[in-house]
Amino acid sequence: MKAAEVLDNLKLRFPGEKEYHQAVQEVLESIEDVYNEHPEFEKANLIERLCIPDRIVSFRVTWVDDSGAVRTNMGYRVQHNNAIGPYKGGIRFHASVTPSILKFLAFEQTFKNSLTTLPMGGAKGGSDFSPRGKSNAEVMRFCQAFMLELWRQIGPDTDVPAGDIGVGGREVGYMYGMYKKLTREHTGTLTGKGLDFGGSLIRPEATGYGNVYFLLEMLKTRGIELRGKTVAVSGSGNVAQYTVEKLIELGAKVVTMSDSDGYIYDPDGIDRAKLDYIMELKNLYRGRIREYAEQYGVKYVPGGRPWGEKCDIAMPSATQNELTGDDARQLLANGCIAVSEGANMPSTPEAIDAFQEAGILYAPGKAANAGGVSVSGLEMTQNAQKLSWTAEEVDRRLHQIMENIHTQCAKYGMRPDGSIDYVKGANVAGFMKVAQAMMAQGLV
Ligand code: NDP
Repeated sequence: MKAAEVLDNLKLRFPGEKEYHQAVQEVLESIEDVYNEHPEFEKANLIERLCIPDRIVSFRVTWVDDSGAVRTNMGYRVQHNNAIGPYKGGIRFHASVTPSILKFLAFEQTFKNSLTTLPMGGAKGGSDFSPRGKSNAEVMRFCQAFMLELWRQIGPDTDVPAGDIGVGGREVGYMYGMYKKLTREHTGTLTGKGLDFGGSLIRPEATGYGNVYFLLEMLKTRGIELRGKTVAVSGSGNVAQYTVEKLIELGAKVVTMSDSDGYIYDPDGIDRAKLDYIMELKNLYRGRIREYAEQYGVKYVPGGRPWGEKCDIAMPSATQNELTGDDARQLLANGCIAVSEGANMPSTPEAIDAFQEAGILYAPGKAANAGGVSVSGLEMTQNAQKLSWTAEEVDRRLHQIMENIHTQCAKYGMRPDGSIDYVKGANVAGFMKVAQAMMAQGLV
């Protein structure tokens, strides 16, 4: 297999899907050597079968807004690979959603889920519907209309969706309600459910907490303490909020958060009371991060991203390609020693190259943000057993899984000088398990 040739071929067959090409390129380049040590993989054309999703379902979603106007959006589910377990991956509601974005996310999810050691395949879904500015009733009607199509594709042992950008507890609840109505079954088909109807404790916290646990493992390899470090976080949604919560608990100083309109810089650090304000602002009132700057009299940069602010650690937790090569160089110039990705593919290839060349600790999202899907996997287990674990139990397992992912990255990504290439480590570890499962199951 020549990574460049496979990629050129995929670009010809799927033109214009730039996010998908970007994600595939990163993985192919890092697994090329290992893949070529296995001639049986090449004979089975494993690489194309692994890069191209098993299936993509697309459908129109029709719903009625509060003024009585009939609206349409597109809905999708990309079922990428189910070699090691049922398809599993979130649903994204955002105006920017395209098949290319969902294909990149489903591809990444396959390797991430493999890394968790839990039996989950990879998928992703979503719609170009944006909940921003919509009333609660509109969001409910949209979620119901979306599920009216999606329910045929999913099931507890087939495909288990969850949340992502624009899909939190509220949206999962509405989708689950409709799913239950249509199937007349109360099963664990969605994760991220409310605690009263099958949700798991620590699921909302899992991605953010997991990212901090992974960061701790990375810092440990260099004998560095988290306490007292200055951290720049982007985003102010689910992942960002719980990343900041854990960072505060462990004594780090978080100086930035953002949304799609801009970022705030708080030189004194976001403390528990200020984070409570953000959580209420974002989760209850669905307000803008600008309001934090007004409330606490700090700097707000409209249209900006936080990477120009001085920090020791950066944790991008908003969206893909939100940290460019220039941003990376700025972070490095300001003395940044670690980057741990809460979002999926937030760093551009140029930014990743800059981090790798500088030799700082750099963890790609598929390793660092795998805590979310891990606890989703634990939610599936609890649903199947019809019981609930305590928060301490789930958190303990989450901790263990993140440590385990770090160990796998070290196993496959150790450089001759003893440092760890987390990109290579995560990609190779994730790939090998899926590849072996696919080989064992024949040409299906
Ligand atoms: P949320 O919708 O809760 O929050 C997303 C945040 O990112 C918001 O602050 C949002 O701002 C901001 N944002 C979204 N799009 C853009 C954009 N184009 N430019 C700038 N800012 C943007 O989503 P999550 O916190 O759940 O997800 C964040 C990231 O983490 C995504 O990459 C997701 O794929 C990834 N992830 C999420 C997991 C989870 O468990 N939820 C698991 C693993 C990864 P605004 O409010 O203005 O839209």
